[in-house]
Amino acid sequence: MYIDTHAHINFNAFKDDAGEVIKRSLEAGVFMINIGSQYSTSKRAVEMAEKYESGIYSAVGLHPIHINDEKFDYEKYLELAKKPKVVAIGEMGLDYYHSKQDSDKGKQKEIFLEGIKLANKIEKPMVIHCREAYNDLLEILKNNPVKKFGVAHSFCGSLKTAQQFIELGYKIGLNGIITYSPSYDKLIKNIALEDILLETDCPYLNPKPLPRDGRNEPENVKYVAGKISHLKNTSIEEVKMATTRNAKEVFGV
Ligand SMILES: [Zn+2]
Repeated sequence: MYIDTHAHINFNAFKDDAGEVIKRSLEAGVFMINIGSQYSTSKRAVEMAEKYESGIYSAVGLHPIHINDEKFDYEKYLELAKKPKVVAIGEMGLDYYHSKQDSDKGKQKEIFLEGIKLANKIEKPMVIHCREAYNDLLEILKNNPVKKFGVAHSFCGSLKTAQQFIELGYKIGLNGIITYSPSYDKLIKNIALEDILLETDCPYLNPKPLPRDGRNEPENVKYVAGKISHLKNTSIEEVKMATTRNAKEVFGV
């Protein structure tokens, strides 16, 4: 059994066939956590999870690229976050790739801190989004202790940065990005399986050998596992077992 720790079946790309995609995933033995990026998609992720007895979970949060579309309403998110099918707060974090202005960076930091406060309040981990902002984000994490350690999702930093997250207690979330080029080979070889979570970030980041622009789905997490097993010279079964164990430990599923 796999757990796709970062899926977006709650996004419009799946509006016509979400039920079929979920059914296909569960039949293939792939559980998933659907991640919200705004209040509307967070709510949809929770409602989706509530329809299933097991296998489908959710995370609620405001993505840094959406902070100008919506005010972060702490109380509203808290109500949602208390629901039993919510296993994390996220995705939240810093994204300097999409907004480079200092005023925006300050606002992103403020809202990320609200996210940490929320995660600590309900004692759930965080799914962290970070792009071109690892130094600022790590500084925030070092100065604001959390009760439950989460994951640096869609990790795209250096080995040194990954090691800093791991030292703090976080897992490294890997997806199709690692199948596109050898850029992450060294990183994967040098971190332990115990520190890795698998994800797809579907509908985005369709892994090789599938077409890069195709719509990704949770079942494809096996290609990410395949690349890791190849690099670590271990069986795909071992990668599956270890990463599923990690996901259960982090998200309590
Ligand atoms: Zn995502």
